[in-house]
Amino acid sequence: MDKISPMMRQYLDVKEKHKDSIVFFRLGDFYEMFFDDAKLVSEELDLTLTGRDYGQKERAPMCGVPYHSSEAYISRLISKGYKIAICEQVENPSEARGLVRREVVRVITPGTIIEGSMLDESRNNYICSIYYNNSERIAGISFCDVSTGELKVSEIFGQDDNLISQIKIELGKFGPREILYITPPDIYRQLASFLKEKLSNCSAEVLEEKFDDQDSINYITKHFKLKNLNQINLESKNHCIKSLVYLIEYLKNTQKGSLNNIGIPMFYDRSDYMGLDLNTIRNLELMETMRTGSKRGSLLGVLDKTKTAMGKRLLRTWIERPLINKEQILARQDSVSEFIENPMVRSGLTELLSGVHDIQRIMTKITYSSANARDLKTFSNALAKLPHIKSLLECTDSKFLRDKYLKFDVLEDIYELINSSIADDPPTSLKEGNIIKTGYDKQIDNYRKDIYETEDLINSIEQRERESTGIPKLKINYNKIFGYYIEVTNSYKKLVPDSYTRKQTLSNCERYTTIELKELEARVLTARERICDAEYKVFEEIRNKVAENFTRVTNTSSIIAIIDVLQSLALVASTYNYVKPEIQDPGVINIKQGRHPVVEALVKDTDFVPNDILLDTDKNTVAIITGPNMAGKSTYMRQTALAVLLAQMGSFVPAECATIGIVDNIFTRIGASDDLASGQSTFMIEMNEVAEIMKNATHNSLLILDEIGRGTSTFDGMSIARAVLEFVADPLRLGAKTLFATHYHELTSITDEIHNIKNYNIAVKKIGDDIVFLRTISLGAADDSYGIEVAKLAGIPNHIISRAKEILFNLEHNLEKNPQFTKYSNITNETFDYDSKKEILKYKDIIQELRELNIDAMTPITAFSKLSNFHSLCLNR
Ligand code: ADP
Ligand code: MG
Repeated sequence: MDKISPMMRQYLDVKEKHKDSIVFFRLGDFYEMFFDDAKLVSEELDLTLTGRDYGQKERAPMCGVPYHSSEAYISRLISKGYKIAICEQVENPSEARGLVRREVVRVITPGTIIEGSMLDESRNNYICSIYYNNSERIAGISFCDVSTGELKVSEIFGQDDNLISQIKIELGKFGPREILYITPPDIYRQLASFLKEKLSNCSAEVLEEKFDDQDSINYITKHFKLKNLNQINLESKNHCIKSLVYLIEYLKNTQKGSLNNIGIPMFYDRSDYMGLDLNTIRNLELMETMRTGSKRGSLLGVLDKTKTAMGKRLLRTWIERPLINKEQILARQDSVSEFIENPMVRSGLTELLSGVHDIQRIMTKITYSSANARDLKTFSNALAKLPHIKSLLECTDSKFLRDKYLKFDVLEDIYELINSSIADDPPTSLKEGNIIKTGYDKQIDNYRKDIYETEDLINSIEQRERESTGIPKLKINYNKIFGYYIEVTNSYKKLVPDSYTRKQTLSNCERYTTIELKELEARVLTARERICDAEYKVFEEIRNKVAENFTRVTNTSSIIAIIDVLQSLALVASTYNYVKPEIQDPGVINIKQGRHPVVEALVKDTDFVPNDILLDTDKNTVAIITGPNMAGKSTYMRQTALAVLLAQMGSFVPAECATIGIVDNIFTRIGASDDLASGQSTFMIEMNEVAEIMKNATHNSLLILDEIGRGTSTFDGMSIARAVLEFVADPLRLGAKTLFATHYHELTSITDEIHNIKNYNIAVKKIGDDIVFLRTISLGAADDSYGIEVAKLAGIPNHIISRAKEILFNLEHNLEKNPQFTKYSNITNETFDYDSKKEILKYKDIIQELRELNIDAMTPITAFSKLSNFHSLCLNR
């Protein structure tokens, strides 16, 4: 091994310390990978695999990517879940004695990205850590978005299954890209399939436990410079502290810096928010549609009229984490009202906000010293809007907005600093000058003056030389390779004096220099070099000064985000005519003429038909909804869930008026999502979801159960559906407000026995053989499921429809065994007339009696009385 080349020795030492990462090893203008890393990367990114001699028999497999375009390659590897250790040259090659020193300056992992090009501006990028040990029923969980500096921590209570489902809920809300487990193996094993199926983009790592309680407390208080843990509401929350310690430790190891941009941890109480689980977020299509995964067609798609990246990220948070506390809901609601009532202020704010860039993420770049002069300029352009935003906020009265106004720091000093120092249109490079304004730094000004003067001097030489040599077109020019030169076209070559030295020959001219010119050139070049260094130094000072204001900037940017979301909600409410819901705690759900916010925005050709709903804990706990397929059952149930969600996030709702009793959670079981990849049957998934709901719902929850028990045989399914209905309706067992759509008409008779269940149906009109959807809901069960009519509407061929009617008729009248009815009709010349057959069947006994009459033996009187008898029988049918 001792023959290994020194550079490769250096590489192997680095790799030894970063076994679980791909090492990007900087060699000049390239990042090179070697050995297994090279094989893997060439495979994953389709790069050519080459080799490099390193003093051994075989060559080392190698592949590389250019430094300047490395972000794109890194981004692709990260999205595949790899970690990248960036190993840079940490000394200037020209100053190095022997081998240039190289060090890993950062390990980029999916959860620690800060590069704008690898991030989606509209969502947070979280890394999560979960701490749990078997002895207690508490887990600590932390989430950090390194790109914004947000750090949140909470505790999760529960045991076994329940703990796992609570963890899943939390993971579902934050959707982390990376998870650190400090837990016994059974926890992460149980979460593994969830991650694979629901958070496919998330990578996970198991960490060894190495800090005890006291170590952890000391670590956190020291790191965040706290007097005590009470200061951040984490007193005696050891599980939270533990999850934080491992997270911070991991970030330190990957970011290699001081983590100045990670704010103080914010403890949040999970019970302050509605506990929406991932199924509900997906089923209600809050963020994206189920079928195509696009934002258009989702609730977010309708609500998002935000103007800033900060607002976009916050809107998601508000949708995923609706409030439970009435005061907090009303505070947001009042602000939305105020913006609706004051469209001038709102539109003024909207306009100003469109010019506010992602100051939060730029600030992160600033603290990581990766922001360039352009970033700073963008930053200050955004800051320039802040005083105007503040003065518009001054016109508001609601307590909430008033409070934001008072806390709004317009960061004028930072704006002034950047505006007075950074050039107006700076280049991206920081080492080539032109980034600092004249007038900001004396020394830079002096260098500049020196350069101008020398340049003037050079220009004056041009005039002088023209005169002294008599060459009229003599020119003094400059280029990067040859520096300053005197150019003379070939026709005047004869006139060139001896004091000129030839520098370069071109086809039509010669270029010269002189001792004087050389001296001046040296002066300009030194001044330029000095100025570049000086500018870079001054720039760094400015950037560091700005970086010291991380907390201030974070506070302002979070207010901007709130204002942005509120103006967006107000704009949506006035565009689509939403109303302010009355919030009750606890209370009824009573919506008049409610609409589905997404469907109404998308169905343009037909008008959306609004409907009422009433759910309470008295006589209307459960609503069973029947009606044919396509009638609008699912839409009706979802719109109710969405109205509650909108109300609890502080928004207005699409209705004529609404009273919303606060719910602790919305649970949904909607549609059949067949998940072949996971190897589970649809029915199994459905039952799993129902099981979770039955375990986790409380009497304050809202349940949306859409056709449960569908995936099995009729009797099985109906029995399960009925048992579930009984359970959810019973105030002593669950008693949760529930909307229950079913195609089992037999279930509707349950209302005879259970007083707090009501039947509703969505009306259809039957015209001949066809049906028309009326979309209005009314009390009472549907009389028919119209399955065959819907099948006909869908284009099933007529002869199949006709036969289906015949079979249905036989089934309904228990005639399977009666050859007269089960005969397969001759379809080519006779279609099965269900209605007239049904009519005939209805009068079967009368027909039978008619058949048996002995007409000849009847007197007119008996005949007449028989006739009148039949008549009244018929009238009663
Ligand atoms: P179901 O669940 O009863 O089968 P859906 O709720 O899926 O029916 O509704 C089917 C379609 O009917 C929806 O996609 C929507 O376009 C339309 N629709 C539903 N409700 C309404 C309504 N109230 N007004 C207008 N169109 C509606
Ligand atoms: Mg449906």
